[in-house]
Amino acid sequence: MSALWTSERIATAVGGEAHGAFEANGVAFDSREVGPGDLFIALKGETTDGHRFLDGAFERGAAGAIASADCAHPHVRVADTTEALNALGRASRARMSGKVIGVTGSVGKTGTKEALHAALARKPGRIAHRSVKSYNNHTGVPLSLARMPMASDFGVFEMGMNHAGELAALTQLVRPHVAIVTAIAPAHSEFFPNEEAIADAKGEIFAGLEPGGTALVPYDSPHRDRLIAAAEPHAETIWTFGLGEGAIIRAREVVRELTGTIVTAELPGAELTFTIGLPGDHWVSNALAVIGAVEAAGGDLALAGLALAEMAGLPGRGERTMIRVDGGEALLVDESYNANPASMAATLKTLGEETADRRIAVLGGMRELGDKSEQYHADIKGPIEAAGVDLCILVGEEMAPLADALGSGTEFVHVPGPSEALDVLSDRIRPGDAVLVKGSNAIGLARLVEALTSGK
Ligand code: ATP
Ligand code: MG
Repeated sequence: MSALWTSERIATAVGGEAHGAFEANGVAFDSREVGPGDLFIALKGETTDGHRFLDGAFERGAAGAIASADCAHPHVRVADTTEALNALGRASRARMSGKVIGVTGSVGKTGTKEALHAALARKPGRIAHRSVKSYNNHTGVPLSLARMPMASDFGVFEMGMNHAGELAALTQLVRPHVAIVTAIAPAHSEFFPNEEAIADAKGEIFAGLEPGGTALVPYDSPHRDRLIAAAEPHAETIWTFGLGEGAIIRAREVVRELTGTIVTAELPGAELTFTIGLPGDHWVSNALAVIGAVEAAGGDLALAGLALAEMAGLPGRGERTMIRVDGGEALLVDESYNANPASMAATLKTLGEETADRRIAVLGGMRELGDKSEQYHADIKGPIEAAGVDLCILVGEEMAPLADALGSGTEFVHVPGPSEALDVLSDRIRPGDAVLVKGSNAIGLARLVEALTSGK
């Protein structure tokens, strides 16, 4: 197989000068991620300068570097390494002749991206590339592009933003044939005055669509029309997806089983029945976006259905584990990686649908919500009551407004941190319970999940 990048092709792509010849098969700008044979890009960040880690990167086996300062190892010298990263991403995109799909939204980007990748990669012989983790910003997106094998049939890229204008720039790099907005909700919303502004910023993704491209818009969103208006000047095809009657890609029938959700979906010119390995309406919606994108990108729908059935939750994002408790087992749903009002509501609703003796919700704060944060926390009361939660363990001071709101309606305990929450949960949990653990990553609920799943 030919190399992902040669020093010569890098030099041409970024307008730099090669010092020493090398071939690289991976790309990284975090020296801790560098593996043998990789290209290391020495970025200058606000707090650190990647050039300090050049030697470390080569100790880890880097084949070459992109640098803007003296370097004793094979490298391509440029004036600005951040610009070089963008140029490399752009060059990688330009030389790829497969179909590219961009995924944005306030929630569900990573989950949808992973499911879509699995669906497209299911066909033997197809090369499907994707961004790893949540590498979705001004450095993560060009990095993910630069890592894409030239012969890829499909590229799936997560695209995120904290400010208006960011997606407008990212989508010009990605130039998707298919662009998905998963959902609009208050998330990372401290820099936006309202949800309409968030919808407008997410809608920027459509401006980068390739000619003849397809926009996928969440039908059940109150901001549907805004998103459609954003897509209209750029998309040849606009498909709405969702559970509502009028959606173009629509779940006509949804049957909840213990092993997953069976969905019969209608899409233009086709009907597909498939199982989703993960529960919840939010996953039905994400899955409809996935099959819409597979259809638009020329993938195989039946194989996509198989991939959706095989889906399991990612750690921190819906992973489901049976844990041992005195004399039996309880279900643990690990949602410790992130939380915002939309994902709180979606996962609490799903908790309410679990077949379980009792439902316990261990809930930590939602970060980055700006000045409406207290209200958003208090508002979780609605989904908690609708789901019939038997016991809430509220973790951290951000949960004080929710504790006040809950009053005497739902039983709750309010504790300062994850270790106290673990004590309460260990004391109260019984066989047959279903436990949802959810909060922003910074709250540290992952520690509680780890303690529970390692049997401590
Ligand atoms: P980030 O901005 O942190 O990268 P993300 O958009 O990639 O987040 P995911 O990591 O895919 O989001 O999902 C986060 C959580 O959101 C999931 O664990 C789940 O609880 C919830 N979720 C996923 N899809 C949806 C959806 N369509 N609507 C509401 N909630 C969702
Ligand atoms: Mg993500």
